[in-house]
Amino acid sequence: IPVEPFDLVIFGGTGDLARRKILPGLYRRFCSGQMGEDSRVIGAARAEMDAEGYRQFVREAIDEFDAGRTCEVGTIDAFLKRLDYVTVDALGKDGWPDLAKLMGEGTGRVRAYYFSVAPSLFGALAERLHTYGIADEDARIVVEKPFGRDEASACALNGVLAEHFDESQIYRIDHYLGKETVQNLMAVRFGNMLFEPLWNSQYVDHIQITVAETVGVGGRGEYYDKSGAMRDMMQNHLMQLLCLIAMEPPAKFDPDAVRDEKLKVIRALDEVEPRDIVRGQYEAEGDKPDYRTHVENPESTTESFIAMKVHLSNWRWAGTPFYLRTGKRLRARTSEIAVVFKETPHSIFGPEAGRHRNILTIRLQPNEGMDLGVTIKEPGPGGMRLVDVPLDMTFADALGPDAEDVPDAYERLIMDVIRGNQTLFMRGDEVEAAWAWTDPIIAGWEKRGDKPEPYESGSSGPEDALALMHRDGRRWREIR
Ligand code: NAD
Repeated sequence: IPVEPFDLVIFGGTGDLARRKILPGLYRRFCSGQMGEDSRVIGAARAEMDAEGYRQFVREAIDEFDAGRTCEVGTIDAFLKRLDYVTVDALGKDGWPDLAKLMGEGTGRVRAYYFSVAPSLFGALAERLHTYGIADEDARIVVEKPFGRDEASACALNGVLAEHFDESQIYRIDHYLGKETVQNLMAVRFGNMLFEPLWNSQYVDHIQITVAETVGVGGRGEYYDKSGAMRDMMQNHLMQLLCLIAMEPPAKFDPDAVRDEKLKVIRALDEVEPRDIVRGQYEAEGDKPDYRTHVENPESTTESFIAMKVHLSNWRWAGTPFYLRTGKRLRARTSEIAVVFKETPHSIFGPEAGRHRNILTIRLQPNEGMDLGVTIKEPGPGGMRLVDVPLDMTFADALGPDAEDVPDAYERLIMDVIRGNQTLFMRGDEVEAAWAWTDPIIAGWEKRGDKPEPYESGSSGPEDALALMHRDGRRWREIR
């Protein structure tokens, strides 16, 4: 379904994120007919360049990150015609009158401003959009992570944006929320009778959330070492997944109803005992350096892995632990949520049938989809032997060729911005609450001088992370 005509300005339009995700994503939406020929995308960054130069830059980005796409409507040239570029200094005056003039040509369209720049520039951009009269009260701004590094800085950032924009205009991106499976999680929970009655501590033994990466810190060493897995992944992505899995059914599928329920989850989080947290740093592997070499800080105590057990103090979840883990240089690139149900209260098949549990697995990557492990009789004449088999719903299989057109997270979220739908974006108070929960944990490590445990690259993380579950008589699911 096509969206309304829009003008999208990408501040940081020559940056890595724009090149890899935003621009190829917009091209795909153009190809599918969702972005019409009457919309414009305007790159705005420091680099001296004209519109033609920017079109060439974007062509190369699409060639590199979206090669071989067949466009159903229009061509790459038709898309490139929709692009423009302005050299702008976020901290000065240069370029702003040009941007104001360009935007003045697009009256009547939805206006959105993507802040794909360092967070230190957010305030300056918001202020100038206002000063130069470029953003009206219907305009939207999209802000990237990291949104602060603690509660105080997140509040300060919210304050700066609030000086010029209403909360209803601010779209804080967490691209995990843009994944098809994440939305499907809500459809499965709230669109079926089957799951919701069982979705509580009476029937659920525990829940595991894993976001595992195979890459190290790459070229982001300096940033990452000041942040670590807790700030970079846990406080935002894993916390958001936890909210969606644990929240109460909202009264309706509307942005504030959903976000109110997510906020209640964050506020119900208990303090975490130090013994329920394991932090790790990856070791060297072959010619790949260890974490400390990678970030050029031989004394670093920043974690590239974190696992923790958390509890929610509310009626639904009291007594059901949530185990969360994320890390770099692990065995496989995989993100999943596993809802592990309790065993049946009594086995009529006797002890030899073994112990079985239903597990609902929600896979975010690879192969977005879900499967539900159910216990059946092993086929054949071997008697009443039980075996667990998956009821598999990989989207690519279930949806056939349509699955290819499932938009990636950034594409979907940008289209939501244009439609004015904030459901999949974090509200200011959610972000602040997540930091308020994170801050004392980090302060505790700093006070005690805790050091992360080294772990083998290509493994599933430090030994102690395995022990975190073993001591509860549980096991992590394999990272594969
Ligand atoms: P980048 O360093 O590759 O690009 C920065 C962009 O900002 C460039 O286009 C540059 O011209 C522009 N810029 C810098 N100073 C400016 C100024 N004074 N005035 C105008 N423009 C200026 O950064 P990136 O990797 O594209 O990241 C952008 C934002 O997105 C950051 O907040 C980052 O944390 C976030 N982010 C990036 C990724 C990623 O994969 N790259 C992922 C998640 C979040």
